[in-house]
Amino acid sequence: MNKIIAGYHVSVSGGLHRAFAEAALLDCDVIQIFVSSPQMWHTAVISDKEVTLFQEDWEKSSVQQVVVHAAYLPNPSSHKATLRNLSLKKLKDETKIAYRIGANGYIFHCGSNQNGNEEGIKAAVSTLNRLAELTDENWPVPLIIESDAGAGNRIGDTIEELAAIWKGLDNKPRFGFCLDTCHMFVSGIELRTPNSISQLIAKFDKLIGLEHLKFFHINDAMFDLGSKKDRHDNIGQGFIGEQGFKNFLSNPDIRKRPLILETPRTGDPKIDIKDIRLLRKLAGANHIPTSPSGS
Ligand SMILES: [Zn+2]
Ligand SMILES: [Zn+2]
Repeated sequence: MNKIIAGYHVSVSGGLHRAFAEAALLDCDVIQIFVSSPQMWHTAVISDKEVTLFQEDWEKSSVQQVVVHAAYLPNPSSHKATLRNLSLKKLKDETKIAYRIGANGYIFHCGSNQNGNEEGIKAAVSTLNRLAELTDENWPVPLIIESDAGAGNRIGDTIEELAAIWKGLDNKPRFGFCLDTCHMFVSGIELRTPNSISQLIAKFDKLIGLEHLKFFHINDAMFDLGSKKDRHDNIGQGFIGEQGFKNFLSNPDIRKRPLILETPRTGDPKIDIKDIRLLRKLAGANHIPTSPSGS
């Protein structure tokens, strides 16, 4: 079968451009990075020099796509206006950086609302519409909504909820989606059998449209279907398992999209590379490294 575009969330410790050194060790065609400290509200300024360095190293690497994952703190669907505004600022600051480095997307979660999902969806829609408005003209990087594990009052775990958010977005061409296998599975979406996988894709297509499905996060799950416990596991080690992923990756609408691993890491690339090797093996994809031009 044809090859897949796969990679990892990699570290930018020592500078954004350092991502490509780790990407090479882990044989990535796509990478995901943070562009600011994920646990802080403050977004450090990235200099033009850093942007140039990043793009030079990207040019030399075999990485075809780069996505930025938002910091953990923003909560666009909060019931508190102050927190929504703080979140909007953080998302806006990171959107700018994602655009400046030439990223293919900026991925974020919709967060949670303690008054329930209906209010949460409204709040998320309003924050995201504002985010698009503020960045449309000068920083139009694709804004990618990630599916959530759905614990407590978290928004955006089911395809129906993602569709409700989608419905409210004013500038739809600006937005897309990233489905996370661990999150979907623990939120109660079966995805290990050919039948359930076709149903999931058909539902997404019907309620949102497959052309808006841009990325997958490929993670095994430490806890079972519907547990709502978001703990990623290494591929084949968790409840989704090798056969589950084999089935999942055999779907042509899934395997043609970039697949990003956020699996637990030891820090030793020789060990950590096991996940992408197994992913490619389960996808039946023989990996031929691409030329530095990314062709
Ligand atoms: Zn995420
Ligand atoms: Zn994820």
